[in-house]
Amino acid sequence: MSIFVTRSLMPPFEEYSEEIKELWDSHWLTNMGKKHKEFQEALCAYLGVQNLELVVNGHMALEMTLQAMELSGEVITTPYTFASTTHAIVRNKLTPVFCDINPDDFTIDTDKIEELITEKTSAILPVHVYGKICNIEKIEEIARKHNLKVIYDAAHTFGETYKGEGVGNFGDASVFSFHATKVFNTIEGGAVCYKDKTIGDKIYDLKNFGIHGPEVVSGIGANAKMNEFCAAMGLCNLRHIDGEISARKAVFEKYTDILGDVKGVQITSVQKDVVSNYAYYPVVFDGKEFGKNRDEVYDELYKDGIVARKYFYPITSDFDCYKGRFNPLDTPVAYDISKRVLALPIYGGLDEKIVEKICKIILK
Ligand SMILES: *Cc1c(COP(=O)(O)O)cnc(C)c1O
Repeated sequence: MSIFVTRSLMPPFEEYSEEIKELWDSHWLTNMGKKHKEFQEALCAYLGVQNLELVVNGHMALEMTLQAMELSGEVITTPYTFASTTHAIVRNKLTPVFCDINPDDFTIDTDKIEELITEKTSAILPVHVYGKICNIEKIEEIARKHNLKVIYDAAHTFGETYKGEGVGNFGDASVFSFHATKVFNTIEGGAVCYKDKTIGDKIYDLKNFGIHGPEVVSGIGANAKMNEFCAAMGLCNLRHIDGEISARKAVFEKYTDILGDVKGVQITSVQKDVVSNYAYYPVVFDGKEFGKNRDEVYDELYKDGIVARKYFYPITSDFDCYKGRFNPLDTPVAYDISKRVLALPIYGGLDEKIVEKICKIILK
């Protein structure tokens, strides 16, 4: 059997079937029912945030947040991310302006943001990549100086804190993904944490066709509601998330034990002042120093049934759909890392023996 880069967190079957029993009694399956409300409240408590809107998935949460903020012109972001981040900007008819990343933590290089600001810039959309939290102090300072909105793509940072504060509290809004492959999942799902209540109200309307009242349609919305079954999954998984994260921590530390001092292998670590969720274990290879490049390591693992992931590769500015529109060489650090990075398997149920086997194949 193959080992994949992740495995979805699932509650015991009986626990889920118990959770959804009421839905058979009430016949209320979606449209912000009882589970939706319960889950929303439980999440606010867990994430330590005041305002949170549930959405059908992380991508629609991003798209609708940008729409609700009525942004125009250019949005500064990074291409070292999942397709969703860049697509959400472009699908809102905004222009992404790509900023390079730090070579050590892969988040936006805040020393390079200001030179990209023009009179058309309306927002910054940084990504907390792999659960690494961006330099939020510096981003806030720049945003305030230039009167820009800040929306964090927080898809990788479920449950993390920085200096004791929940990561959802930073910026004007932070967007989470609860996709099956994320640390915490609702099968498909997402959420927006926001500061300004009017933004939350708009997102609530937008996710339900822009319907504001029985006879009032005030926004050009879509359908992006989270249904009751997904909310129920979220309620169950929330009871198991702490155990999942501590099991991931053990895997993370095992990799670091074995790969920590290998020449030509850049490992990952937990940032200062951050309580991590151990979402990913990205490794960056220096082909010359290590003797093998990323693609060779990927192929070796694959032959043994280990499916690692070239995550993120290619960078979004190098996608076929954006050919001729952006130049991937504008962000040389992101471009270089994307060709050398490999995300290794990590999830709560991953056996220590398998981690040892993976490391052995890498070091062979
Ligand atoms: C997963 C992910 C998204 C999109 O979330 P979905 O719930 O899959 O729509 C957005 N940004 C990043 C960085 C992601 O990893």
